[in-house]
Amino acid sequence: MSVDKKSSNLVIISGPSGSGKTSICNELTKCPKVKQSISYTTRKPRDGEIEGVDYCFVERSEFEKLVNEDKFIEHAEYCGNLYGTPVGPVSDVSDDGSIFILAIDVKGAMQVMKKRPDAIYIFIMAPDDETLKQRLKNRLTEDDEIINKRFLAAKEEMEASKHYDYCVINDRLDDAVKEIEEILQI
Ligand code: 5GP
Repeated sequence: MSVDKKSSNLVIISGPSGSGKTSICNELTKCPKVKQSISYTTRKPRDGEIEGVDYCFVERSEFEKLVNEDKFIEHAEYCGNLYGTPVGPVSDVSDDGSIFILAIDVKGAMQVMKKRPDAIYIFIMAPDDETLKQRLKNRLTEDDEIINKRFLAAKEEMEASKHYDYCVINDRLDDAVKEIEEILQI
């Protein structure tokens, strides 16, 4: 399906940890017509993260139960934790001009691509490896082992960027947000 034939109300945003995807989504959702899906995860909450706002934090057994009940449109394991997008809000997205964003990893995005080829797929990149690693370190929420794991995962994820409709380099946050707003015409 060519990009200009795509319906623009479901938008999938992926990008390595440290690409600035979360900051970009936070900016995009300041627009009242942009909503973001709240994922389930088995990862433990980071300082400041709020249950039901950042994620629905669940135990692995509860997550697996939801998988068995077909409650996710996609789910994937990322650096040892499970993440999944609940099916309900995605199927409820209406054609009223609102935009619904899924910020998910590439494995999850590949699953959604099979079910929703009409969605718009955007991949966010850091300008270079050094910046990516520095951003991961600056977070100070994770130890070195996790940072290195995420850096290696990032290198793999970058390979998948060719499957996306758009690739946006996040050097300056404002510019990246503007570029995506132009893509989505918001
Ligand atoms: P974090 O632990 O940093 O919040 O997220 C780790 C990775 O999981 C990020 O790439 C994030 O986009 C991805 N992620 C968050 N929610 C979901 C989800 O529902 N499904 C999938 N497949 N990945 C997700």
